[in-house]
Amino acid sequence: MEWCFSMPKVELHAHLNGSIRDSTLLELTKSLGERGVINFSQVEHIIMKYNRSVKEVFQLFDLIRIVTTDHATVTRITREVIEDFASENVVYLELRTTPKRNDAIGMTKSSYVEAVLKGLRSVTSVDVDFIPHGEEEEEHSRTFLLNTPPTGCEDTNNYCRKRIYVRLLLSIDRRETTEAAMETVKLALQMRPFGVVGIDLSGNPLLGDWNTYLPALKFAREQGLYITLHCGEIPNAKEIHQMLDFKPQRIGHAICFEDQHWEILKSSKIPVEICLTSNIRTMTVRSIDVHHFDHLYKAKHPVVLCTDDFGAFSTTLSNEYNIAANAFELGKKELFELSRNAVELIFAERRVKEDLRKYFNSVAKIWE
Ligand code: 5GP
Repeated sequence: MEWCFSMPKVELHAHLNGSIRDSTLLELTKSLGERGVINFSQVEHIIMKYNRSVKEVFQLFDLIRIVTTDHATVTRITREVIEDFASENVVYLELRTTPKRNDAIGMTKSSYVEAVLKGLRSVTSVDVDFIPHGEEEEEHSRTFLLNTPPTGCEDTNNYCRKRIYVRLLLSIDRRETTEAAMETVKLALQMRPFGVVGIDLSGNPLLGDWNTYLPALKFAREQGLYITLHCGEIPNAKEIHQMLDFKPQRIGHAICFEDQHWEILKSSKIPVEICLTSNIRTMTVRSIDVHHFDHLYKAKHPVVLCTDDFGAFSTTLSNEYNIAANAFELGKKELFELSRNAVELIFAERRVKEDLRKYFNSVAKIWE
């Protein structure tokens, strides 16, 4: 486990609010309970339950949404999530979140994203790079990660500070209308100078219809935003086909695929974000030994290990690497290559990719 922790890692599928710390969720829920906004005893079991079905997971997300949707809390959770990923040596994080409106407190989708950005700016314990680089900033992006402290350096002085690139994806929730989805895409375009690089489609897979989001997703693509879709979380052959036909730059999960879908996926080489613990905990995959990671990995299909919701599923990216190491008999070298190959799947600009490649090359000998 120790080497999974110290290995540099790339996280491409992490939902902001699903990554809330257990301690923060309990604190916020208790506080709302004390103020009479919610009945704590009625929701405690949802928080404490270990294995949750897909339905129960989305009940938890609805609770998290009630608890977290104010500006200060969004800012706090963002800061904590960045600190948590950086502390386990994640060097590039693509964090996704659904911009939300809350008229009662004057929150708009735009002010929600501003609160996330405030969270990024408020991190002081690690160095965060989240603003895309212009041509003139070549020097900065050439050296950002190369100055990362050596593995095991624990002091908090400047030399030992951890460094992390963060880029944002805005999520369209499957409950949203075409207009609401379009609003999110327009907001993503507006927020590009602040590190928004793409769009994600997520939310309860039992709800919504592909054709509702399609106009917004097409518009996003025309405007040069990258797209990743939650695909195949439940058996829905028609929608899986439609999503693969759309040719997003990545998909998440890819669980309930039939032979025809595997064929299209493999021939189109769409990379898959794999979330082992999430799939097992939601019981969408029966057990780890039948997880499709194994066959995609052996087929050399592009895959990346991710956490999904490290708070909701009590995991870490290091833990996901450890699970893969044990379940699929992968050694340090193989997992390092998996992590390094994930650099090719990121949505950030060329300079970030180049810096990451150089950084992984510079530490490769440790993992051989
Ligand atoms: P947020 O977007 O509020 O920052 O993060 C939590 C939200 O992400 C959830 O309410 C849900 O819409 C989405 N989400 C988190 N995990 C999953 C997942 O495993 N599958 C799907 N389809 N959506 C998810």
